[in-house]
Amino acid sequence: MKINVTRSSMPSFEEYCEEIKDIWESRWLTNHGKKLVELESKLKEYLGVSNIVMYTNGHLALEAAISYFNFPKGSEIITTPFTFVSTTNSIIRCGMIPVFCDINDNDYTIDVTKIEALITNKTVAIMPVHVYGNVCDVEAIEKIAKKYHLKVIYDAAHAFGVRYKGRGIASYGDISMFSFHATKVFHTIEGGCLCFNDDSMKLPLEQQKDFGIVDAEHCDYAGGNAKMNEFQASMGLCNLRHIDEYISNRKKAVELYRKRLLGVNGIRLLEPQEDVLSNYAYLPAIFDGYKKSRDQIKEELAKHDICARKYFYPITNEYSYSKGKYKRDTPIAKSISEKVLTLPLYSDLSIEEVDLICDIVLDIK
Ligand SMILES: *Cc1c(COP(=O)(O)O)cnc(C)c1O
Repeated sequence: MKINVTRSSMPSFEEYCEEIKDIWESRWLTNHGKKLVELESKLKEYLGVSNIVMYTNGHLALEAAISYFNFPKGSEIITTPFTFVSTTNSIIRCGMIPVFCDINDNDYTIDVTKIEALITNKTVAIMPVHVYGNVCDVEAIEKIAKKYHLKVIYDAAHAFGVRYKGRGIASYGDISMFSFHATKVFHTIEGGCLCFNDDSMKLPLEQQKDFGIVDAEHCDYAGGNAKMNEFQASMGLCNLRHIDEYISNRKKAVELYRKRLLGVNGIRLLEPQEDVLSNYAYLPAIFDGYKKSRDQIKEELAKHDICARKYFYPITNEYSYSKGKYKRDTPIAKSISEKVLTLPLYSDLSIEEVDLICDIVLDIK
């Protein structure tokens, strides 16, 4: 059987059917229904956040977060290119200019020592990424943001359930986005949310994702539509029941990968971060000076029907639409993107499968 880089976690078919039964009775399919309200309150508790707004996907949530602040068109947002295109696209689609900051070599999050040099009188925000679920240097970022009066919008798409110093990761910064896409640690098929501490942001964000409607006869501005429906929320309710088991299974797989690959000449794995409760979202391995290149290892695995992915290659300032347009060199991001291979990791990946993948990587001639 083919082993993909990821595989969606699913409740049993019966559990999902049981969950969606009430929807047939109520005929309430979307627009802040019962399932969504229940999921919201359970997520608030699980994520350790004070406010949550649910979206039909993570990308629209990220755009909503930027739009909320009403920055002047052409403002600059400092971000990293070592991420999924969504991060960069959200900035551009909101009429802002991405200013690329390099990542650090330890955990591939934004290099906080390089942020200040990029700040201009057009800078309005920082959009760091908790890439692979690794926690950014949230304290240093907060200091810089305070000093220059910048907003901090976290792309926490990979960081569902991650805690830092005992606090939910989304309690840092002005606002954080989690993605609930099918491939993520926790999913609602498609989906996402914004989390924030400031209660006054809740109502405007709720209205913004529902056309800007205030009530039946009032619409204050041209909002869009990014609502989560009841079938998505039901999938979320089912998956949330099993989230601890999903994460502990991932942890077992990660531990075995580490046992087998750590210390091998030419292979580098990420070190666990201090004070961080991880969600074991991804298993990136850096092939640097190994007997075969990253691309050759990817090919060898593919011969065995195992799909590893080059997350993140290319970096987002090297795509055709962005290359050369936003001039900021990010040599570390570029170098990592040329050596990284994300190995298969998901909740029901078996111990035997991890062993098989490691055998292939280690036995390559
Ligand atoms: C998945 C992802 C997104 C987008 O989320 P969707 O729910 O797929 O729209 C944004 N940023 C990062 C880093 C992601 O991995």
